Amino acid sequence: MAKRGLQYFTLSEIEPRIWFMLTGCNFRCKGCFRPARDGGGTLLSVEETLERAEQACLKHYGQLPSKAMITGGEPTLDRDYLLGLVRGLNAKGFKEIILMSNGYEIGRYDNYASELVDAGVTEAHIDVKAFSEDIHIEYTGKSNKPVLDAVRRLDETGIELLIQTVYMPNIVADKEIERIARFLSSVDNAIKYRINPFTPTFAFEAVTRRPTIEEMELAYKLAYRYLPNAIISRSCYREYPTPPAQETWITVYPDLTYKRRSIKDQEEDRIAWLSRAKAIPKEELIPALNRADVGYIQELTEAITKYSPALSASNRNQRQTKRR
Ligand code: SF4
Repeated sequence: MAKRGLQYFTLSEIEPRIWFMLTGCNFRCKGCFRPARDGGGTLLSVEETLERAEQACLKHYGQLPSKAMITGGEPTLDRDYLLGLVRGLNAKGFKEIILMSNGYEIGRYDNYASELVDAGVTEAHIDVKAFSEDIHIEYTGKSNKPVLDAVRRLDETGIELLIQTVYMPNIVADKEIERIARFLSSVDNAIKYRINPFTPTFAFEAVTRRPTIEEMELAYKLAYRYLPNAIISRSCYREYPTPPAQETWITVYPDLTYKRRSIKDQEEDRIAWLSRAKAIPKEELIPALNRADVGYIQELTEAITKYSPALSASNRNQRQTKRR
């Protein structure tokens, strides 16, 4: 079985859990902000990945956590590796195995979704970047047909499903988000749907501005007509509904060295990535970064609170009934 690049594991200081950051991606989203997109990291087999993850958890938690998040880059690129990793986590007793993906590979094969669930995936977070094929191709370089198929197939398995879209003014705005919401409701109107604002600060290309709070609210209201579990959020790869405030994370590198990293450290990684990938000296890049002001963050937080109700018990029950 082929090896895959691992950038690092992330451990939480709030609750024992582990993220696997796999490198490489089949999309080239213009606004990508993930250095893992470009490959690299340390090549590891499934067994090596599991062994190092276990050692990292034992060192920092004294036990294996029950929750694992597999992300990237794009974690689905090597099907055998991913299925092996999920089976291995399942065998080690992980109760929640959450896959974060752009969905493209999952939708390309008839049974990839069901294989993932049979292997042990309990929840999937899928980015639907656009509903219109032309916008999707223009923004990611790939068709969105497999992505929409992945949503249908994953929903058929009955696992927890969270779909997310980044609001990008003039690219993926209210009308496009309404199209996505309409599509999702035709699949299953109990699907959880999260709308995140585009943030140009660390985007590979600052293709647009950040949306106003009013634009976010309008998109939410349009989506909510179709999807009672729609929310506004601020981050597209952590948790649902909205992650608790966290100061630092423990990054464990593939050689098992580790570092407690803050948001500032993560920002520095992104600056280093942008500087390298775009061949722009950091000194030129940093002054040009378009950071959100405090007022915007405050207003966004208020909108998140207003439009991010906790999942009601009835919706959870709905999904559980479907699984049985
Ligand atoms: S945003 Fe995600 S899917 Fe798009 S290129 Fe970056 S890593 Fe890949």
